[in-house]
Amino acid sequence: MTKGNGEDPKTGSRMERFQQGVRKRTLLAKKKVQSITKDDVKSYLLRNAFVLFTVVAVILGIAALDSKASGKMGVRAVVYYMSTTIIAVLIGIIIVVIIHPGKGTKENMHREGKIVQVTAADAFLDLIRNMFPPNLVEACFKQRMFKVDIPSNDTSTVASIISNVSAAMETLTQMKEEMVPVPGSVNGVNALGLVVFSISFGLVIGSMKEQGQALKDFFDSLNEAIMRLVALIMWYAPLGILFLIAGKIVEMEDMGVIGGQLAMYTVTVIIGLLIHAVIVLPLLYFLITRKNPWVFIGGLIQALVTALGTSSSSATLPVTFKCLEEINGVDKRVTRFVLPVGATINMDGTALYEALAAIFIAQVNNFDLNFGQIITISITATAASIGAAGIPQAGLVTMVIVLTSVGLPTDDITLIIAVDWFLDRLRTTTNVLGDSIGAGIVEHLSRHELKNRDAEMGNSVIEE
Ligand code: ASP
Repeated sequence: MTKGNGEDPKTGSRMERFQQGVRKRTLLAKKKVQSITKDDVKSYLLRNAFVLFTVVAVILGIAALDSKASGKMGVRAVVYYMSTTIIAVLIGIIIVVIIHPGKGTKENMHREGKIVQVTAADAFLDLIRNMFPPNLVEACFKQRMFKVDIPSNDTSTVASIISNVSAAMETLTQMKEEMVPVPGSVNGVNALGLVVFSISFGLVIGSMKEQGQALKDFFDSLNEAIMRLVALIMWYAPLGILFLIAGKIVEMEDMGVIGGQLAMYTVTVIIGLLIHAVIVLPLLYFLITRKNPWVFIGGLIQALVTALGTSSSSATLPVTFKCLEEINGVDKRVTRFVLPVGATINMDGTALYEALAAIFIAQVNNFDLNFGQIITISITATAASIGAAGIPQAGLVTMVIVLTSVGLPTDDITLIIAVDWFLDRLRTTTNVLGDSIGAGIVEHLSRHELKNRDAEMGNSVIEE
């Protein structure tokens, strides 16, 4: 209540103090949420998960390629994987450039002077340099080393631990902002170098036959362990995502505008995926096999619905086998060879989405991408989709490669997290469709070798 001239100085100052307190608490909360957002969840999970996923999955996938005997079939599968992935990336790029869902709201990033502009030649040369790291261990921990002093007093209370962690995280964030992102790196880890190494290593293991078996078994069981760990971690993902979104909401005053852009972005991704799944893949199937693609796709309904429900190509794999072998009658020697590798390295939906999302983030930031950067995005989006595991939201993790490769803010992945649970389902369905159509095409192209083998062995179907 006010008296006299309508203003009670005491009440007024109390009000001011209250407002100041609220502002202070909001700022504090914002800082804490940001620190959790920036580093606890993203940095740690992304860096470690990525290195493990990629190295093991790629070594295993490539080793499996060679060990499964038929070289011709392998070449056909890889040619199919690479060409459909590249087509998907191109669709993603074209559609996001045409629709332009992320018309800028943020100020131009160049204002801070922290993003160093590199020419296309620089980016390309860096990309090549990163492919062949001089030191593999350094490639895993390439992030600049720094020292953070954590005060030792009063570490017993949760509050002090949180504030110490916050301080450490803030230092880490500052250090990171000063670093110049290099193409093909994931939060300072040379992802591309690791992928190239893993491919070479996988090829060597695959060519070693029985001698390489022990290594194959080792990576097989390591892969299984990681998958189980990831399944466990996924239970906590909602909490992490909650912080990620909360941090972004606290940070962004322009959420309303972003909301509109996000809707446009979602529609753009859906259109891109539909073009690939409903036009490109069936057309490719028809042109190569001269069979009705819709009959083939009709046989896959169960697998496609499972992919939609699980958001995981790996989890869908048993159903995909069943649909292809039992309903579409695809030869087991093809499915057993093509599908496990495909579920790991052939992700058309993910590739399309990664390129599209990276360009969307650039648009939101008013960041003009030159032609060289768009090429870099297409290469890294392809690599990122190969590196992504067939599990829910793995594409979101490997997207850091794409963003870092052209100097886009990796924090802005949080902008698209809100709709990722939905888009992940759609891109997983596209991934499974791509793998299945690949199996159909490879079977068609390999029919002579399969027949010859049958004639040699005197049977028509390989029994398990
Ligand atoms: N969830 C996808 C899959 O399993 C991968 C991704 O996140 O893009 O195929």
